[in-house]
Amino acid sequence: MSDTILLLPDNIANQIAAGEVIQRPSSAVKELLENAVDAGASEIQLIINDAGKSLIQVIDNGRGMSETDARMCFERHATSKIQSIDDLFHIKTMGFRGEALASIAAVAQVVLKTKKPEDKDGVYIEIENSQVVKQEPVAAINGTSIAMKNLFFNVPARRNFLKSNAAEMRHIVDEFTRVALAFPEIFFSLTSNGQQIFHLEAGSLKQRIMQLLGNNYNAKLVTVKEETDYMNIYGFVGKPETAKKTRGDQYFFVNNRFIKSPYLNHAVMNAYQQMIPPDSFPLYVLFIDLDPTQVDVNVHPTKQEIKFEDEKIVYAFVQAAIKHALAQFSITPTLDFDLDASIQQLSSVQQPFTEEKKSAASASSLFKGFTQKNQAHFIEKTDRNELKHWRDFYESNRQQEGMDDPAKPPQNFEAEAREHLPFQLPEDSTLSQILNTYILFPSENGFMLIHQQLAHERVLYDRMVIAAAGKPMATQRSMFPVSLELTPADAVLLEELMPDIQTLGYLIEPFGKNSFVIQGTPADVEQGNEKVVIDFMLEQYKHFSNDLKFSKREKLIRSLAKQQSIKAGNRLTERELKILVTDLFNSSQPNTAPDGSPIYLSFNKAALEKLFGR
Ligand code: ADP
Ligand code: MG
Repeated sequence: MSDTILLLPDNIANQIAAGEVIQRPSSAVKELLENAVDAGASEIQLIINDAGKSLIQVIDNGRGMSETDARMCFERHATSKIQSIDDLFHIKTMGFRGEALASIAAVAQVVLKTKKPEDKDGVYIEIENSQVVKQEPVAAINGTSIAMKNLFFNVPARRNFLKSNAAEMRHIVDEFTRVALAFPEIFFSLTSNGQQIFHLEAGSLKQRIMQLLGNNYNAKLVTVKEETDYMNIYGFVGKPETAKKTRGDQYFFVNNRFIKSPYLNHAVMNAYQQMIPPDSFPLYVLFIDLDPTQVDVNVHPTKQEIKFEDEKIVYAFVQAAIKHALAQFSITPTLDFDLDASIQQLSSVQQPFTEEKKSAASASSLFKGFTQKNQAHFIEKTDRNELKHWRDFYESNRQQEGMDDPAKPPQNFEAEAREHLPFQLPEDSTLSQILNTYILFPSENGFMLIHQQLAHERVLYDRMVIAAAGKPMATQRSMFPVSLELTPADAVLLEELMPDIQTLGYLIEPFGKNSFVIQGTPADVEQGNEKVVIDFMLEQYKHFSNDLKFSKREKLIRSLAKQQSIKAGNRLTERELKILVTDLFNSSQPNTAPDGSPIYLSFNKAALEKLFGR
């Protein structure tokens, strides 16, 4: 019973997406590497000559094939991986179509050498034009070697169609990279024209990423890991600063299969919103695992496109997981090692999510896995907890500055009284701006690092919430009203949002079909780019529109707060810094931005000492 390959009956064969499997050398590389993986190999070597035009060879130490299987594997629809239609819906292997070797045998001269560990001899088979031209027993090591020579030797039109060696080699390296990323526990090597280009020792995914994509990603990867009953996601995303101007280094694997999915890509990009410049591309290497019945891999001949049973859930999950990972990373921006327990105790590391996030999170089974140790919302939040938090920090510093501070209320006034005093910066405080993005707020006993954009977003958000609750914002009439030309869909949306926009200080009037005139803007917003503001706001609004938990107004406010906030990278004057910090600490929730990101990190002396091992 060592023969395992069966010919698929026609009724199954016909259900398998038809199409050209081997279009270029890299497609053969992919198929051969996947076969080696499916054979359970722990070591896989890829040997290429002439960008695959003269030789593609894959040598593995997997389970090998019996003599019968070795002949059978080149038949069309011959596979050991599925047997019934039902199996098509539970695919756990890379291959299942039983077409690759048949296709390869049709377009190249193939030499197969294979031996099963339990067999004494191996099998040697030579094939040309799909015909076996030689077969004999051979002394061989366990595993399989398949060499395909002179690709398309019998299809000159095809051969002429191939691109330059450099271009074909690039495709090969792409395929090699995808398979090697998906299986870091397997050793891979790639040799081209006698030169070893990759030598990838088995290791962790992180090591594999650095081996393949470059050591410069060391310390720049953020771990993603969320587990739920429905699906798991794990892998790494690049810190925002690794975003590149060109796409690339973006990998999605579903049940270990590399896939191209503009849809899921969008989910990731969405999570990076506002963290990276538009038109830049962060690294990601993400693995989604879910029940094979929830994905259809059989929609495309090269199996690079798949269909999810419920793609909305997958989208929401991916987006939430990345946001979550990035939020955690921004809590501990410079600490790239596994966090030491003492650092975990820092209050800034234990900040809760917003109340809203927390209830949404606990309500959804998807987010069940989000409540593990050391996650941002792990700590139970008491009322006004975060307000206390900064006060504790701040007041304890003040206290050390001396008891004879006349401005300071007597001790027995108690915290209760202090809580209702508006926050005021001490006269002598000096704030400085770092990287035009962070505000350094020093004190006797430590310092806070405040993210200017997030801080401003919080301030604006609070103001707009108040305005929307009944105290409309003041509008300044524009001297030169700007007209706005929208797509029909956007026009409908703006029309719908009009009453709410008005309470937020924008005066916009319809002006014929799909056109509007902006007559006024909020009094405290600089005029001049209102057109951009509205465009962006609509864009932003649409991004939020999958979030059913937000009301229309909430979405609008979030969009506008994001849009109007001072962006990272803008130089602020000392006066502006002071106003922003004062406003922040008088806001409803100084430590969390509306989207749940932490607004500041606080470092006290004791924690710093610990970091330095003192
Ligand atoms: P599929 O992978 O879709 O089953 P292929 O044409 O790629 O179809 O391979 C046909 C069969 O040959 C596989 O099902 C497997 O049983 C066998 N096979 C191919 N490559 C190897 C290998 N490297 N080691 C062991 N068996 C192999
Ligand atoms: Mg295969």
